[in-house]
Amino acid sequence: TLTVDTLTTWMSKFAEKVETNKQFLSDLDTPIGDGDHGFNMDRGMKAVEEKLATKPADVTSGFKIIAMALISTVGGASGPLYGTAFLEMAKKSTTTNDIGELLDAALAGIEMRGGAKPGDKTMVDVWNALVPDVKNGTLTENRITEAVAATKDMIARKGRASYLGERSKGHVDPGSQSSGYLFEALLETEG
Ligand code: ADP
Ligand code: MG
Ligand code: MG
Repeated sequence: TLTVDTLTTWMSKFAEKVETNKQFLSDLDTPIGDGDHGFNMDRGMKAVEEKLATKPADVTSGFKIIAMALISTVGGASGPLYGTAFLEMAKKSTTTNDIGELLDAALAGIEMRGGAKPGDKTMVDVWNALVPDVKNGTLTENRITEAVAATKDMIARKGRASYLGERSKGHVDPGSQSSGYLFEALLETEG
C-alpha cells in the first residue's frame, strides 16, 4: 500500500533515474523518433520534484500534483500518457491505496488515451507485462529488463515510430525504457 511518503520516495527515485539516463533515453528516441524523450521526461520529473517539495496532504492530491506537472511540462506523446496514468491513480486512490490496483487503473488509462495494445511497441508493453508482477509480488529487476528488451523486435503501430513500419524493428522503445525506470524505482521503494 502506498502512502504520501512512499509515493514521494518512488518519484524521487524515478526522477533520479531519468536524470541519469536522459541522454540514453533520447538516444533511443533518435533512430525511431525525434530524439527528445529523455529531455522531455527529465524536464517533467524536475517539475514533479519541485512540486513535491511541499508535502501533499494525501496520496490523491499527490497523484494529482504529479499528473498536472507532467501534463504541463513533458509534452510530446508521452506527457499526456504519463499524465493520464497518474490522473487515473489519483481517481483510484480515493477507494484503494493498493499499488497493484492503482497501477491497473493507470494502465487502463494509458490504453484508453493512446489506443495502443500490447505488441504495438509502446510503453503499454512494459506496463502490461509488469503490472501483473506487481500484483503477484513477482516484480524483479530481471523481469523489468526482459519487458523493456521485448519491445526491441516489435514493429511500432502507434506514435512516431510507427511511421517507420518494419524499420522500427531492432530498436528498444524509449517510452518502454522510461517506464522500466518507473517500475525499477517502485521496486526499490518497496524494498
Ligand atoms: P514524441 O514521440 O511526441 O516525441 P516522446 O518522445 O516523449 O514523445 O515519447 C515517445 C514514447 O511515447 C514512445 O516511445 C512510446 O512508448 C510512447 N507512445 C507514443 N504513442 C503512444 C501511444 N499511442 N500509446 C502509448 N504509448 C505511446
Ligand atoms: Mg520523441
Ligand atoms: Mg517530440
